[in-house]
Amino acid sequence: MIRWGFSVIMAIGFLLSARPTVLGQIQNDFVTTREMNRINWLEFKDVVPAKINAVILPTGTLEPHGVTANGSDNIAPEAIARTVAREVNALIAPTLPYGMTGSMSNYPGAFQMSEAAYRPFVKEVLNGLAANGFKNIIIMNGHGGPQTAVLQSVAGEVANERRGVRTLVINWWSYTADIMHEVFGQNGGHAGINETAFMQAIDPSLVHPERYVKELALAYPAANTWAATPFPASIGLYEQGQGYPDFDETKAKIYFDRVTQAVAELIQDTIKRWDAAGV
Ligand SMILES: [Zn+2]
Repeated sequence: MIRWGFSVIMAIGFLLSARPTVLGQIQNDFVTTREMNRINWLEFKDVVPAKINAVILPTGTLEPHGVTANGSDNIAPEAIARTVAREVNALIAPTLPYGMTGSMSNYPGAFQMSEAAYRPFVKEVLNGLAANGFKNIIIMNGHGGPQTAVLQSVAGEVANERRGVRTLVINWWSYTADIMHEVFGQNGGHAGINETAFMQAIDPSLVHPERYVKELALAYPAANTWAATPFPASIGLYEQGQGYPDFDETKAKIYFDRVTQAVAELIQDTIKRWDAAGV
């Protein structure tokens, strides 16, 4: 009985040892933290770029998300970054939490940056990461709309202007659309079944089923049919009749694990290909 108890405790200890904590500090890692906010400059000097030459920059915005957090587009990419940082051997840059929100920018607590302000600011952040010795800059984007195009354009410019610097922009929810269909058996939406589940997996206290009514959701219009600003619903369904949040905890966990694994594999594969190409 004592031996059994001991081995169970050891097994639990082993399982916990590889998991990131709330603050992103990972036990048994060769750095005391993966977060640029928390690392000391002397340790940074020891590890970048000698042992770590990749960085993940989460980008998002503040906008309404049905019955989950206004900062979902920041919190989701941060959680992905913390989950994969050790596996892909990257540090995590502080999040860019103000973004180009778009059609939901007039909702309570939302925030809008113009492209004129956002574009050069993002470019200087990327150049700053490169100047600090990072060869691989991964932009983990949590917000769609016009922000995606700007990030891809700026990331491309920085890589083309600085030989030896490689950039990868990942729009996590789009890249993993196949996983969404497999896990939920339907299409999703902004703050829909998929994004709400992702938030539920990160922190259930950020999801409020008691406030949910179906009327919070509306399908996005087909192209060139109608356009309303602000968009008259904070849950935007990709497809009519599909993607309503269902608050299923089990699916939420499966979705989170599969998404983060797919994202980690994309980063690893891309870096491997860059290295093999000698770019
Ligand atoms: Zn979102």
